[in-house]
Amino acid sequence: MPTDIEIARSTPLKTITDIAASIDIPSDVLNPYGRYIAKLDRSFIAQLMDRPRGKLILVTAISPTAAGEGKTTTVIGLGDALKRVGCKTMLALREPSLGPCFGQKGGATGGGRSQVAPMDAINLHFTGDFHAISAAHNLLAAMVDNHVYWGNELNIDTRRINWGRVVDMNDRALRDIVVGLGGPSNGYSHSSRYDITVASEIMAIFCLAKDFDDLQERLARIVVAETTDRQPVTAGDLKAVGAMAALLADAMQPNLVQTLEGTPALVHGGPFANIAHGCNSVIATETALRLADYVVTEAGFGADLGAEKFLDIKCRQTGLSPDACVVVATLRALKMHGGVAKADLAHEDIEALKRGFANLERHVKNMQSFGLPVVVALNHFVTDTEAEFAVVRDLCRDRLGVEAIFSSHWSDGGAGAEKLARQVIEAIASSAVNLKLTYSDDQPLTEKIRSVAQKIYGAADIAVEASAAATLAKLEKEGWGNLPVCIAKTQYSFSTDKNLMGAPSGHIIPIREIRLSAGAGFVVALCGDIMTMPGLPRKPAAEAISVTRDGLVDGLF
Ligand code: ADP
Ligand code: MG
Repeated sequence: MPTDIEIARSTPLKTITDIAASIDIPSDVLNPYGRYIAKLDRSFIAQLMDRPRGKLILVTAISPTAAGEGKTTTVIGLGDALKRVGCKTMLALREPSLGPCFGQKGGATGGGRSQVAPMDAINLHFTGDFHAISAAHNLLAAMVDNHVYWGNELNIDTRRINWGRVVDMNDRALRDIVVGLGGPSNGYSHSSRYDITVASEIMAIFCLAKDFDDLQERLARIVVAETTDRQPVTAGDLKAVGAMAALLADAMQPNLVQTLEGTPALVHGGPFANIAHGCNSVIATETALRLADYVVTEAGFGADLGAEKFLDIKCRQTGLSPDACVVVATLRALKMHGGVAKADLAHEDIEALKRGFANLERHVKNMQSFGLPVVVALNHFVTDTEAEFAVVRDLCRDRLGVEAIFSSHWSDGGAGAEKLARQVIEAIASSAVNLKLTYSDDQPLTEKIRSVAQKIYGAADIAVEASAAATLAKLEKEGWGNLPVCIAKTQYSFSTDKNLMGAPSGHIIPIREIRLSAGAGFVVALCGDIMTMPGLPRKPAAEAISVTRDGLVDGLF
């Protein structure tokens, strides 16, 4: 198989005007960025919202392993397959972050014959949305410090500023920093931090805002600090909202691109699935649902993180609901959950597969508990055997009542996912979803966290540290108790121990810290040692990236 970038480059693309026309988007509402990328005009989107929504397919996965699962690849393959079988289809995906792109994971435009294109542009600067989000975030940070510098009229307690800076890069040296050194003309020295842009609250706001007015209202609610008498100081108090909105105005328009098979895709926004909710913008999802009969979208990490938040946060806030859920697994990853080392995954191992099935089983049951019809997509790797597949297919039927479909879109494109597409269409047609969320708005915050821990993670209970309990009590008192919770924990396990694979139960989820994201509209509960600024690995992907003599980027994957 050629590399992802070789496949992408050897596939001729249609112009973005042709792609738009294929889904009835008139050319005069396109704001093109070159020949193959365009933003959609804001007024066009506003006028679409009277139309009925198409069907929404949520693609999620088992707990990620080093073996790889391939959610994005499956979203794209499934989208191409739906189009092949005659459905009017659109994709809604996240924009890639430069952190993983240059770190360990590589890009986020799918792989093999299931990719969105142009992959180098999308993976690198794309239409500048992440730069705009970083700029808006850092403008607010500068305005906080500047306010203190010029006399601190709002009485900001400089020990209680919780708004740091962001950059879209994995850079561990920036995690804890001291700024304002060098004397009074540089402000006052204080500790601060950098998070990666995808962990910014602005990113979460950007992705949850239903329109530009909502965006500005949410920006105004961001709490950046407390006063000396412990009252919240907001971005609205600092008069930062208009300028931040100006930086974000163009970025808010979703980006239209295409798959290698010409299926239209909106790629827009990209919050982390730990500290934030981990899926593309509401605007892109809503737009796609008005333009297509079937929309395929992805929630980050495993279903305990991305899908839970997609449902309990994004759907709760917007009234959206998936019509079906696809849980992606690979036989390799299931064997890893069953205890096989990465180096031995190419060998058939039925017993390990049966043990590792516990992870898939828990995720599928969780998605069923939301009231969603589930189809399991087994993303086919060349080393997979039919005997192994038969084991998983039978376990899925017998224990879960769901179909598992072997899908070879990575090597065969949409043609390899037609069976999966048909199964998904049937699942949608044969069940009407009545979404059941994990907790209600009026449950206290601590109860909400406990509900997710017990119902989704299989935990016995939560253990809230004293300082976190104090913050929870304070937030309840200040009237934030009706917000949903966003639990930041390792993606590798149902527990907070990343080495505990499979489906652990009876464990305790320790809650270390609570943060209010008032603009995003959720309360973050940090469990264990969760990272909001990743580092680069020993051998970063960046080392293999270069530019050829004719100006083409090489080494992206
Ligand atoms: P996720 O969205 O779950 O993080 P991606 O779809 O981005 O995963 O895939 C991660 C990597 O795995 C990509 O580089 C992709 O090319 C590769 N990959 C996905 N499916 C397969 C497959 N069936 N065989 C080989 N490599 C694959
Ligand atoms: Mg992905």
